[in-house]
Amino acid sequence: MTKQTRIAVIGAGIVGCSCALWLQRKGFAVTLIDPEEPGSGTSAGNAGTIAEYGCIPVNSPGLFRRLPSLLFSSDSPLSLNPGYVLSHPVWMIEFLLNCRQRKVDRIIRLLGKLLARVYDGLDPLLEMADARDLLTQQGFMHVYVDQREFDAAKPSNELRRKQGSEFVELDRGDIRDLEPNLKFPFERGLLFDSISHVLNPQALCQRYVECFKRNQGQLLRQRALEVLHGAGSVQIRLDNGETVDAERVVIAAGAFSKSIGGIPTGLLKLDTERGYHVQFSNMQHLVKRPVSWHHAGFYATPMNQGLRFAGTVEIAGNHKEKNPRIISYLNRKAHEMFELPEHPDEEWLGFRPTCPDALPVIGYSTASEYILFAFGHQHLGLTLAGITGKLIAELANGEEPSHNIAPFSPRRFL
Ligand SMILES: Cc1cc2nc3c(=O)[nH]c(=O)nc-3n(C[C@H](O)[C@H](O)[C@H](O)COP(=O)(O)OP(=O)(O)OC[C@H]3O[C@@H](n4cnc5c(N)ncnc54)[C@H](O)[C@@H]3O)c2cc1C
Repeated sequence: MTKQTRIAVIGAGIVGCSCALWLQRKGFAVTLIDPEEPGSGTSAGNAGTIAEYGCIPVNSPGLFRRLPSLLFSSDSPLSLNPGYVLSHPVWMIEFLLNCRQRKVDRIIRLLGKLLARVYDGLDPLLEMADARDLLTQQGFMHVYVDQREFDAAKPSNELRRKQGSEFVELDRGDIRDLEPNLKFPFERGLLFDSISHVLNPQALCQRYVECFKRNQGQLLRQRALEVLHGAGSVQIRLDNGETVDAERVVIAAGAFSKSIGGIPTGLLKLDTERGYHVQFSNMQHLVKRPVSWHHAGFYATPMNQGLRFAGTVEIAGNHKEKNPRIISYLNRKAHEMFELPEHPDEEWLGFRPTCPDALPVIGYSTASEYILFAFGHQHLGLTLAGITGKLIAELANGEEPSHNIAPFSPRRFL
């Protein structure tokens, strides 16, 4: 039954859509606000994996050592825009401080525990939105060029195992049997048999929104400019001059969450890790499951629309155009992996919302009991959206959250 409480959710990416549906499940009346087509931002172009194994952050002690070669090689999945980094040094410094072993171990533990809850958040939404057909369980393969690279990754893979990931080791013959169209002679690999992937991430958001509307949810195609909060309510000022009154608001605008006026985000260390994809239409038959090339930093995922090569990390902020070097890197590597047409049909740039400690922000704002935050899911937003929505709905409903969210609280930045 619908309660009187109206909650507004700002941002209709996968995180906002998941929060909106979970809030409806708890009986709230919900307004979802986004100027763009739901799910058309970063949530559209990702690699599609439900990455329960994804507890190892980009932060790592080894990154210091590898940083110069990663930054100055044209054959690298990592790039920094020096002008951007120098003018926004705080995030980078904090990110590097979070590369210390003790910090990394903590991140792995916290992400591992949250990742163990993925399907508690996702399954009910797939049922509710009749979206099971958009997920397929074909497993996931991670491949290494040679034994040395494989051995170097062993400690982090053991940590994955410790967090509950199950996988088997593969040799060159196994890889060829499982994925015969791979033309690069990868020596070693890992197979995570139980992993699922989404066949069209934007369609998943759209399916959620159709369900949201059937349940009397209100979708406003407007930009939220400012949130005004007073005693007992919030007002959201939209770019068409109107305002929306609500009793609470959930900020789920991904990497753009800090750009909304009036909300106390000043202390939050949210920035973006830009990521890219190139996609070849009608080539998805070349691979059965997502295959990620360890050293090259991307996935080849068979999607409904084609074969998508998605990944890389670029630190350059939310506003710069696509970097042609990274597009050409992905295109070149894709051709090393498979026999493909010369040019991709799609080149895409997305903005992962990332805090320097690689943890999402889930919880009440430190400044207002009417503002909830749900962003910062870095490389794992598709995976963690469902459980984030569930936790946000529990909080909004005054329940004790079913997972310890203290480590994800915005308080950690105070
Ligand atoms: C290359 C790449 C590969 C990836 N692969 C995976 C993967 O395999 N598995 C995985 O789990 N994750 C993956 N990710 C990460 C995942 O895509 C993101 O974490 C996730 O999409 C973030 O979702 P979001 O809803 O927080 O943000 P977004 O999808 O960016 O949505 C934010 C929404 O907010 C809206 N908005 C912004 N400002 C305003 C405003 N002022 N008012 C109203 N609305 C506003 C935007 O229009 C947008 O629709 C990948 C990311 C990239 C870039």
